[in-house]
Amino acid sequence: MDPASFRRHGHALVDWIAEYLEHSEKYPVLARVKPGEIAAALPSQAPEEGESFDAIMADFERVLVPGLTHWNHPGFLAYFAITGSAPGVLAEFLSAALNQQAMLWRTSPAATELEAVTLGWLRRLIGLPDAFEGVIYDTASIASLHALAAAREASIADVRARGLAGRADVPRLRVYSSDQVNSSIDKAVMTIGLGHDSLRKIPVDAEYRMRADLLRDAIAEDRAAGVLPIAVVATVGTTSTTSVDPVPAIVDICQRERLWLHVDAAYAGVAAMLPSHAHILAGADRADSLVVNPHKWLFTPFDLSAFYCRRMDVVRAAFSLTPDYLRTSEAGHVKNLMDTGVQLGRRFRALKLWMILRSFGARAIREHLSAHIRLAQELAGWVDAHPDFERMAPVPFSVVCFRWKPAGVSLSEEALDAANEHLIDLVNQTGEVFLSHTRLRGRIALRIAIGHLETTERHVRRAWDLLLEHAPSVRSVRL
Ligand SMILES: *Cc1c(COP(=O)(O)O)cnc(C)c1O
Repeated sequence: MDPASFRRHGHALVDWIAEYLEHSEKYPVLARVKPGEIAAALPSQAPEEGESFDAIMADFERVLVPGLTHWNHPGFLAYFAITGSAPGVLAEFLSAALNQQAMLWRTSPAATELEAVTLGWLRRLIGLPDAFEGVIYDTASIASLHALAAAREASIADVRARGLAGRADVPRLRVYSSDQVNSSIDKAVMTIGLGHDSLRKIPVDAEYRMRADLLRDAIAEDRAAGVLPIAVVATVGTTSTTSVDPVPAIVDICQRERLWLHVDAAYAGVAAMLPSHAHILAGADRADSLVVNPHKWLFTPFDLSAFYCRRMDVVRAAFSLTPDYLRTSEAGHVKNLMDTGVQLGRRFRALKLWMILRSFGARAIREHLSAHIRLAQELAGWVDAHPDFERMAPVPFSVVCFRWKPAGVSLSEEALDAANEHLIDLVNQTGEVFLSHTRLRGRIALRIAIGHLETTERHVRRAWDLLLEHAPSVRSVRL
């Protein structure tokens, strides 16, 4: 592509994106294609001769756009609603052009140092002490994997060299979390060779928070049985209901037992920027590590996960390894980001966080977060006031879990589950909003997550009205 063509297509693409960001609501939020439809519309071989960018864009619109589920649509209320905000989109564009690869300080001094500075800003915004060093990974899954690998490094002698298999001196290991923990923790213990059975899930209280007393009992029971506890994962903002584990009590136990405490605050951590919610990270200052995802509720295009650790030396002990061809004269005076994890190459993600924090400013970010929390409270109020709906969990942030349960009609729990699943399908088929579900104490719950930058009361009201409108037609659902 010659420079003149780049200019022309670049301007056209920015126009396309600007139109998209302004009018994403013209698309059905949940893609309506059938499995295999997109692949079938594309050739099975790459072209031998280059094609014009106009032709490629035409196929993008014709074939791919119908297969997009629009995460950047303000009616997206499923899972966790996220935003690719305009400053973040521009930063990604620029980052691709610069193509920085910050494995070593010298391969990108700017990316290396901006990452430290930007993570320092975010750390102070959420009130974590400066003793926490930060590093950016792609996702919280990978951040938590590194946390647990560091816990393994800290508790098993010479694990880096000798591994775990076939060692008579290493007993069965244990990691603890609540039974509401994100599946990424299950995958992490599998990946680092502990085995899935090493994750012991502690029951929760009526508000889905880990029972610290049961954690203490479980650790004692395991020790008595010759099992070696190495880490606890506490969650601030669980994936189903956004409950907050009692971190102050958990960190006391971890300090007494000498266990690594990792706090998974992937979604809710940013809410600690609000004076009203600063308490959610109480006790986290004494944790060993914490993850928070700007790509969740901080308007940052996917992906960018911030990992904070008070013992980054342990992460480095687990992962640093410098082949001869990567030795540099400045090593020892600088940070080489390849030392803080599995990846060698790493992209310039800090650029988008820097541009977003500067472009919004902390005050506007706080206002958006508060607005989302207010909207969720409003929705919770409508649910509570309606005789045919039942709320299933408290609403500490911007997620509401509830179900349709008609007054004066006796339906089995199975029938209610089927009706609620059907209700979600009917509402999602409208294309106006996208809701997802979760299962709470065995039962299906509708789950509305508010987090997109452009989501307003109109969208939440519309989702509620659609539920009310379609509820009568699920009354007749029979198993
Ligand atoms: C979303 C979420 C994760 C996983 O996030 P990824 O960045 O997609 O890996 C982990 N933990 C919690 C609590 C989450 O909400």
